[in-house]
Amino acid sequence: MEGALIARDKVGVQDFVLLDSHTSEAAFLNNLRKRYQENLIYTYIGSLLVSVNPYQELDIYTVTQMQLYRGVNFFELPPHLYAIADNAYRVMCSEYNNHFILISGESGAGKTEASKKILQYYAVTCPTTEQLQTVRDRLLLSNPVLEAFGNAKTLRNDNSSRFGKYMDIQFDFKGAPVGGHILSYLIEKSRVVHQNHGERNFHIFYQLLEGGDKDLLCWLGLERNPQKYTYLIQGRCAKVFSINDKNDWKIVRKAFSIIDFTEKDIEVLSPLNVDLAFYARDAVAKAIYGRTFTWLVNKINGSLANKDSTQKTVIGLLDIYGFEVLDTNSFEQFCINYCNEKLQQLLIEMTLKAEQEEYELEGIEWEPIPYFNNKIICDLVEQKHKGIISILDEECLRPGEATDLSFLEKLEEKVGDHAHFVTRKLADQKTRKSIDWVDFRLLHYAGEVTYCAVGFLEKNNDLLYRNLKEVLCNSKNNIIRECFLLSELDNRRRPETVATQFKNSLTSLIEILMSKEPSYIRCIKPNENKEPGKFDDFLIRHQVKYLGLMEHLRVRRAGFAYRRKYELFLQRYKCLCPATWPHWHGPAVEGVERLIKHIGYKPEEYKLGRTKIFIRFPKTLFATEDAFEYR
Ligand code: ADP
Ligand code: MG
Repeated sequence: MEGALIARDKVGVQDFVLLDSHTSEAAFLNNLRKRYQENLIYTYIGSLLVSVNPYQELDIYTVTQMQLYRGVNFFELPPHLYAIADNAYRVMCSEYNNHFILISGESGAGKTEASKKILQYYAVTCPTTEQLQTVRDRLLLSNPVLEAFGNAKTLRNDNSSRFGKYMDIQFDFKGAPVGGHILSYLIEKSRVVHQNHGERNFHIFYQLLEGGDKDLLCWLGLERNPQKYTYLIQGRCAKVFSINDKNDWKIVRKAFSIIDFTEKDIEVLSPLNVDLAFYARDAVAKAIYGRTFTWLVNKINGSLANKDSTQKTVIGLLDIYGFEVLDTNSFEQFCINYCNEKLQQLLIEMTLKAEQEEYELEGIEWEPIPYFNNKIICDLVEQKHKGIISILDEECLRPGEATDLSFLEKLEEKVGDHAHFVTRKLADQKTRKSIDWVDFRLLHYAGEVTYCAVGFLEKNNDLLYRNLKEVLCNSKNNIIRECFLLSELDNRRRPETVATQFKNSLTSLIEILMSKEPSYIRCIKPNENKEPGKFDDFLIRHQVKYLGLMEHLRVRRAGFAYRRKYELFLQRYKCLCPATWPHWHGPAVEGVERLIKHIGYKPEEYKLGRTKIFIRFPKTLFATEDAFEYR
């Protein structure tokens, strides 16, 4: 294929590294805007994909499109999710190593849609056998089930994921998907008992009431009308235009049967409602829901598990909440933003590492550039004995004495002089912005966030009274009993706090990711109204900043804007030099040397590595491309 070796489009550039002024945020936004207005929602920064939610169905996800991207070199086609997915898959098959695709962005930016589209891409394009159809179906159907229990309508997204999700897809040596495994993070339990205006409880409740047949509801002692249940109508929007609960229930039911749930299991799980109503205790309701969700994930994992012991390679898909700044930021935002600091750290380390390794491998001098390393903020939060989580845990060990305010004071005492930490007492010295007396402020890599300390202790403790736990262990409901009996086993030790549990699960997630080859997708939400075609500059500039895109571009552009294998470069441009046209018979590197001498590259414009030519400025390449087009 005569591929577009150079990533230049009629509309802007397909790769931000080819922007002339690569450090200018304005140029970055211009490029993104121009493309978005042409419905070109994808743009690269090197091998990272930036995606802007189109809020409309585009015809770029057809089977024909999928096949177009199959097995084609990354840069030969317009930027696409499929190019990222295919690249990871191809490298996995040829090098037999593991990969992950990290999808991040704020709520409503398109992360979950992206991860579903990638899964579909594999389901359609990977080899399969009749035997493996079931695996494929289960992988695909795990989504509607998890979404029913883990997603809800929020103000920002009608189908907002209220948990973080990491899913490994396992492949055999032929590249066929043979199994999977899911890890879930921090399900938002509080939604079970409280929803803000305009938001709903988890989809499953409404699906059950709308779609469950009469007998089932009767058996469960439920009435069809959601208005009967306070837990379901606090947001005053039990019915949502864009959601068809009745239909979704059918899909979930079907998924249940394919994923191997027994009828007993399905009798879902459902009595949850009865027990919730019976105990009518918020803490209990939350605990039951949280544990049921874990039970559900385990159950799905059981059905996705591949039992044969031959070695497999995996591609992991991480769909996780982006950086969050609300009007009032609480413990949940603290955890979410900490998670994003960790993932940013991972990206910085892995990108820098990859750049450095490439330069070393190619024998090119590496010229380090300054960039902000957010490790200092990760340390502030997680360091043993000294970090915010440790301080919070210590306070949680003093029941009756400690309060959210004493926690604030401890923070001041112990991390008060940290460059990224501010409280009211310290605010005057550090920033001019006023800060409330129950608040503390962290200077995240993505910007400042003010957290309200109220509720931190209680949420971190997440206590469930022992006697209630005992009641639940003796529950007539099998699933609930199972959930709580399990947790009884580790009851001898003091249970870990929520923040520490989260920290530990993040640490192991990062370990999992570090051992794999990375790909990144950064999703951007173009406006607050879910409107197609509307590019809100202010909102997008903010996201560009906190997704670390300029940082990433700077690292990527540190040395050279463009690099290509000698063979590919020569093949594209050999017609520009009589010595290499129509054929060059010597080593490709020598052909490239002849070629660039002939077209007049200056020494400072390029470097020659072992297998690739590195070009420092986009303009050099554009001039060559122009010469090629007008030859
Ligand atoms: P997130 O997971 O980041 O919170 P979602 O993936 O749920 O966001 O996307 C929110 C909504 O945006 C979707 O329900 C869908 O309507 C729309 N959307 C997202 N990505 C696309 C896309 N690629 N094409 C069309 N619509 C999309
Ligand atoms: Mg989501």
